[in-house]
Amino acid sequence: MSEDRPEFDCAMPENPEIRRLDEWDGQRLRRLADEYASPLYVLDLQRVRENYRRLFAAFPDADVHFAAKANTARPVLRTLHSEGAGIECASAGEAVRALDAGVPSERVQYTAVNPPAEDLDLVVGRWEDGADDLTITVGALDTLDRLESRGYDGRLCVRVNPGVGAGHHEKVATGADAKFGVPYERAGEALAEAADRGFDVVGIHAHAGSGISGEDLDSHRELVSRMGDLARDSPVDLEFVDIGGGFGVPYREDEDPLDLDAVADATRAALGEIDATLVIEPGRYLVADAGVLLTTVNTVKPAPDTRVVGVDSGMTTLLRPAMYDAYHPIRNVAANAADRPAVAQTVTGPICESADVFCTDRSIAECRRGDMLAIGNAGAYGYEMASQYNSRPRPATVVLDRGQEAVARRRETIDDVTRLEQEVEWL
Ligand SMILES: *Cc1c(COP(=O)(O)O)cnc(C)c1O
Repeated sequence: MSEDRPEFDCAMPENPEIRRLDEWDGQRLRRLADEYASPLYVLDLQRVRENYRRLFAAFPDADVHFAAKANTARPVLRTLHSEGAGIECASAGEAVRALDAGVPSERVQYTAVNPPAEDLDLVVGRWEDGADDLTITVGALDTLDRLESRGYDGRLCVRVNPGVGAGHHEKVATGADAKFGVPYERAGEALAEAADRGFDVVGIHAHAGSGISGEDLDSHRELVSRMGDLARDSPVDLEFVDIGGGFGVPYREDEDPLDLDAVADATRAALGEIDATLVIEPGRYLVADAGVLLTTVNTVKPAPDTRVVGVDSGMTTLLRPAMYDAYHPIRNVAANAADRPAVAQTVTGPICESADVFCTDRSIAECRRGDMLAIGNAGAYGYEMASQYNSRPRPATVVLDRGQEAVARRRETIDDVTRLEQEVEWL
């Protein structure tokens, strides 16, 4: 190929930094909700792939691990694995999901934050049973005792508390929180001790919380530079330095996407020369804009100050607005919505909690009973945080991939919700 000819990927002529809610095909969304029932999570695997490829292009030397807690649907794990991603697991359950999705153990990393005994039993059990190249990341020295007592002497990474944090909300800034990782000053000792005790020490890890944005680059630089220093001072040879995830996505329509090249440049400059592979661990960035939640309008109620629009999903379906005051774009995808005036509306769910509100007084095309609404950027931490509170079954997830579609998770029924009830005989 001649040097001056631009590279052209036929499968992806363009790869925009963000897919806005307006860009989803309203007619297709309506048809999906009709076919698979509402509420419904829709996830576009091709968009997941695009997000991976854009990130990988900005960090060509890095190994990308997907933080599975953002979305554990098996097709997502498979798609990202086949693109080359490793899988970062926050629990034994996620590690089991990754392994059972066919991800080889050398691409599975389990980060044990205050791990329950059952989690260690399960992961070490899988390690003994053939998953012998998985990596366990420990965030406290006493986890080494717990691994040793189970006979584990496999690949080990030490999570470091870098003493700096970032995040879009106080509940997701973990770097400076003492719960996460070995204190920075003691990290060298921890590495030496782990190696002495016979573990196969392979890496160091830190994660500063979620929400790296243009404004947060200073704390990102600080974290990365500390990790670079630690890698150069490490008493053991390291295979990788994992600087965590937290790559932000624009939730608001007028917010700019993350400048990945700027983040990559800042990362490289702050890290300096290291004799180890850089690992990044995005969750949200890879899946957020690949997903929407479809929900139907049940009730429309004019109130003195607003128009209350009741929909068939709520904080049990998508928790982020109630938990983090998160903004999610909302679009009325009814066939004739474009012909209606935009009016201030408050979209609420059916849960008996005043926090069960998706937006307040937001300007949206006037909603009528039976309309379908799409809630955008719902691919990350949407289904994963869904609950059965108020005895609400969780919705289905449908995955799309170019022209194809399939149910990845079926909709729960009331029987699923009550399945675990036992008859208490003495009542
Ligand atoms: C949650 C988490 C991530 C991913 O965070 P995002 O904001 O979704 O990118 C990465 N690493 C660890 C250890 C995490 O706990």
